[in-house]
Amino acid sequence: ADTKVTLGFEAEVKQILHLMIHSLYSNKEIFLRELISNGSDAADKLRFTALGDDGLYEGDAELKIRVEFDQGARTLTITDNGIGMTRDEVRDNIGTIARSGTRHFFEALTGDQAKDSQLIGQFGVGFYSSFIVADKVTLETRKAGEPAAHGVRWESAGEGDFTLESIDKPERGTQITLHLREGEDDFLDGWKLRSIIRKFSDHISLPIVMLKESYGEEAGEAEKTIEWETVNSASALWAKNKDDITDEQYTEFYKHVSHDFQEPLARLHSRVEGNNEYTLLLYLPARAPFDLWDRDTKHGVKLYVRKVFIMEGSEKLMPRYLRFVRGVIDSDSLPLNVSREILQEDKLLEKIRSGAVKKVLGLLEDLAKNEPEKYTTFWKEFGQAFKEGPIEDFKNRERIAKLMRFASTHTDSSEQTVSLDDYIARMKEGQDKIYFITAESHVAAKNSPHLELLRKKGLEVLLLSDRVDDWLVGYLTEYEGKPLQSVAKGDLDLGSLADESDKQHVEEASKELEPLIERIKRVLGDKVAEVKVSARLTDSPACLVSDTYGMSRTMERIMKSVGQ
Ligand code: ADP
Ligand code: MG
Repeated sequence: ADTKVTLGFEAEVKQILHLMIHSLYSNKEIFLRELISNGSDAADKLRFTALGDDGLYEGDAELKIRVEFDQGARTLTITDNGIGMTRDEVRDNIGTIARSGTRHFFEALTGDQAKDSQLIGQFGVGFYSSFIVADKVTLETRKAGEPAAHGVRWESAGEGDFTLESIDKPERGTQITLHLREGEDDFLDGWKLRSIIRKFSDHISLPIVMLKESYGEEAGEAEKTIEWETVNSASALWAKNKDDITDEQYTEFYKHVSHDFQEPLARLHSRVEGNNEYTLLLYLPARAPFDLWDRDTKHGVKLYVRKVFIMEGSEKLMPRYLRFVRGVIDSDSLPLNVSREILQEDKLLEKIRSGAVKKVLGLLEDLAKNEPEKYTTFWKEFGQAFKEGPIEDFKNRERIAKLMRFASTHTDSSEQTVSLDDYIARMKEGQDKIYFITAESHVAAKNSPHLELLRKKGLEVLLLSDRVDDWLVGYLTEYEGKPLQSVAKGDLDLGSLADESDKQHVEEASKELEPLIERIKRVLGDKVAEVKVSARLTDSPACLVSDTYGMSRTMERIMKSVGQ
């Protein structure tokens, strides 16, 4: 397969390219951020893969990114010695396969150039931003561990197609050469490039190097020397003292780790001392990412060991219900040469994770108490994911439950603002249960005939209509010693709150209405298990009730929809 082939871009990729070239030129310099961020990702991937196989470094373990320009040829070149790509990976990653973010990217576009260009990094279309400034892009790459002859050259003018050919490439990694468009000579200037790198990529913990010319006096003549110079500060922000970090630096770092362009909602920077020492720099985003509900969503926390990147996106670092948390955990106690197998079952890592979870819950408690507006934002964006908490993290379920917010008959609004503590504070004398109803929508919950009696008695009912709620109440069966009770199941036992007169009434009516009930039973046959007179309705003539231990109606519907 060493002949040169021409392949067509996938349709959505063509659209992206068109957009890059014709509409996103107000913030051109972001292409450099994207290419550097890809180089940094490639270095991270190499480090992780090499955990089990040092040989992949091929004797060159000093990972870095080089930025060079050639004024004569009008080219700008970005080189990394990261993982590299095979021919198939090049074909799939850049060109022929639509990525999951692409469609979401189009949906998120606003038409406002400045805003839209910020979206690029978030949706996995960063590479294509090269075409904002280049009319031809050449990418040469060779995967770590492969022979030199397995190099690949990809080239495209960003129109309908690209070419692929095999090349010899002795150095592992990826080199991208941008042939700049007319009028883009700004990017052939060392000072300009340095300032862009410092602006966008300062916190990248990998050195980004450029050539520097300097003149020394030697024997009366000006002697020119050229050497590599690290442009970014390449330091681990989280390892610095809090007092030495500005809000801007915290925010820039957040944008880098999260690919978000907005400010975070809140952050937590903390160092845990003891025999298991680690540092946390974690953030809550202000907005849910587009893929929060994808099954294979990457988790957003990266693990470092003494400032060296180890891995990211694992449930080993943050449980699923906190998958929206972004940031870094840096351990002092794990060994640097930790292998992937060890990471799978490391006790230290488990402890770090459970410590990190506690810190995040603490941050949320703090927001709920001291910054209720921010907490409301958090709940709107992430409440549904967070409700998976008691199911996944049984140990912390009381703390998690305290942080939950629900709609309720007290506010009669679909906004989820009522906490279980609010509910308990309003409980009527003699009430020992927390009543709730689950339904497919807020309107269905609110208008359910099951609420009639409770409304009459002035008892508050939580109105649950999120998809996850049925699972939630299956796991969260009590809070602060008070059982959670569905008002739609079994005999609604109001305990000491029931009226004696109601009970009598039911007994009398049951006798009186026996013939009618028999008739209804006959007509419905085995469609129902039982037909009963009850005091739970005040206005409606009849309602359906599940067995006390049976599935709820919503759960039944879900089971049906998956073919059970
Ligand atoms: P994203 O980085 O969000 O995945 P990009 O468009 O920036 O989206 O890159 C697309 C893919 O191309 C990357 O996921 C990666 O697989 C591959 N890629 C891009 N640049 C490099 C690089 N320098 N080294 C290795 N792989 C790369
Ligand atoms: Mg990228």
